Amino acid sequence: MSESAPAPKPDFIREIIADDLATGKHATTITRFPPEPNGYLHIGHAKSICLNFGIARENATTGAKCHLRFDDTNPEKEEAEYVDSIKADVQWLGFDWGNDLYFASDYFQFFHDCAVHLIQHGLAYIDHDSAEEIRVKRGNLTTPGSPSPYRERPMEENLALFARMRAGEFKEGACVLRAKIDMASSNMNLRDPVLYRIMHSHHHNTGDAWCIYPMYDFAHPLEDTLEHITHSLCTLEFENHRPLYDWFIEHCPVPSKPRQIEFARLNLTYTVMSKRKLLQLVQQGHVSGWDDPRLPTISGLRRRGYPAQAIRDFCKRIGLTKFNSTTDVALLEFEVRDFLNQNSPRRMAVLNPVMVVLDNWHAEPLGRVVIANHPQNAAAGDREVPISGAVWIEREDFMEDPPKKFYRLGPGRHVRLRGGHILRYTSHDKDAAGNITLIRADILPGTVGVDAPAGIECRAAIHWVDAATGVDAEVRLYDRLFSVEDPDAADGGFTSVLNPASLTVITAKVEPALAAAEPGCACQFERVGYFVSDSIDHQPGVRPVFNRTVALKDSWGKQTGR
Ligand code: ATP
Ligand code: MG
Repeated sequence: MSESAPAPKPDFIREIIADDLATGKHATTITRFPPEPNGYLHIGHAKSICLNFGIARENATTGAKCHLRFDDTNPEKEEAEYVDSIKADVQWLGFDWGNDLYFASDYFQFFHDCAVHLIQHGLAYIDHDSAEEIRVKRGNLTTPGSPSPYRERPMEENLALFARMRAGEFKEGACVLRAKIDMASSNMNLRDPVLYRIMHSHHHNTGDAWCIYPMYDFAHPLEDTLEHITHSLCTLEFENHRPLYDWFIEHCPVPSKPRQIEFARLNLTYTVMSKRKLLQLVQQGHVSGWDDPRLPTISGLRRRGYPAQAIRDFCKRIGLTKFNSTTDVALLEFEVRDFLNQNSPRRMAVLNPVMVVLDNWHAEPLGRVVIANHPQNAAAGDREVPISGAVWIEREDFMEDPPKKFYRLGPGRHVRLRGGHILRYTSHDKDAAGNITLIRADILPGTVGVDAPAGIECRAAIHWVDAATGVDAEVRLYDRLFSVEDPDAADGGFTSVLNPASLTVITAKVEPALAAAEPGCACQFERVGYFVSDSIDHQPGVRPVFNRTVALKDSWGKQTGR
């Protein structure tokens, strides 16, 4: 458990629900998470999942529940792959819909019956105007709409035409069913919205049973009422759809009266969040797939090594508001780093290796050193790390001409190998280009686990990998996918501001324990960052592949001078 996990903040939605339970308006609360299965879930959805499933969990003693409902009313977009991935992501985030898994397409008959009801009550009509005519006649914020010539058609005629629409007698676009509300309403959504359109499309669930499909604004409140949802939580874009939501609930033969409440959606810096844009990145090959670790998809973040709890903690920390804003992605990274710092074992890997030969190794034939797996958590135990006459260290940990405050290896310097001996520099080799090719040092016998002998200054311990047993591993260094804070605002579109350095693949030297790790194993590479063995490409003992989850410190702020 992350100790710094913030307690749930009371927010305006939880207050409304608590009030409804206290006053007896509702005996319990039923919420829902209603994704359209047309893409993978992203971190914005996680906010909605944590909210809806979180409320159900917090009110479990009253019998509260949260439904997982696939909003699959549009026959042209859904795919089974998306349904499966959404279920997997909700579960991975730690939530459970129990028996409450629904598909909106199972309610097609009810939507149809509600439409018939509206027609019978003179509240809906068949319109033969084209989509363009409907758009033009709807008017705008300063001009009232003008009625379609079909608006005053008799009820019986509307009923008969709707039956023929449903029977497949008309071509796509020949007519639509519209609600008859108010063409002069100051709320454009109430200017006779379309309820049904003709689509001769095959549906993954209902096959060819239907050739008319309901519009989202009509279907959504009906789905909610049919499932006895008490509080229907959605993002702010739907605020001025609420009068329409309420109108349908008021005028259709519904079994319950849900209440729609809006909250601000999550936006993150350096990120695009809409499924349509994520799909474009996938289809155009800018990323390797929906689970590319650079994407803000739940499956991408999981593959990147983001723990589910860190995502939940992040959602708690940002809380809920009624105004749109953009959250700094560094806050999400902070939450991930914080969790991993407390929970992930330490391992050693050298990303930019140079070899140090230990000239006097025979002086102490110690083949292994024992290193704690976590500096603050004794329960994590320790491990034996092999060591022999040569080790890899980071190039950055050696300087040929070190300044005074450089406490690592260099001429005249001593440094400790993490968990092992103190080294004394003896010499180094360079190639023709001036690159350092080899360093030589002596170990100071008897210095494992004890302070430096008198007169020896040794202030730092560096990580290392034994040259004889170390393994080559592919390491994928991920950085932000976009190089600007607000990719959506870029003149050339979001694909024009992709960060060319968002992925760097290197070969690193890793200790044997890392090469043997199972896929999806998170750890800290000491002094380097947090990494996870790739859930797809890593093969224990055969092909080690690690993804950088997040660097040890926030270096981005420094680079951009923030
Ligand atoms: P996108 O615009 O990314 O395609 P969407 O809203 O169309 O998202 P849905 O599958 O319809 O995706 O969304 C399911 C639920 O997730 C909805 O209740 C929606 O309000 C919520 N949701 C989607 N994006 C966010 C976000 N960025 N922040 C909070 N909630 C979100
Ligand atoms: Mg949508």
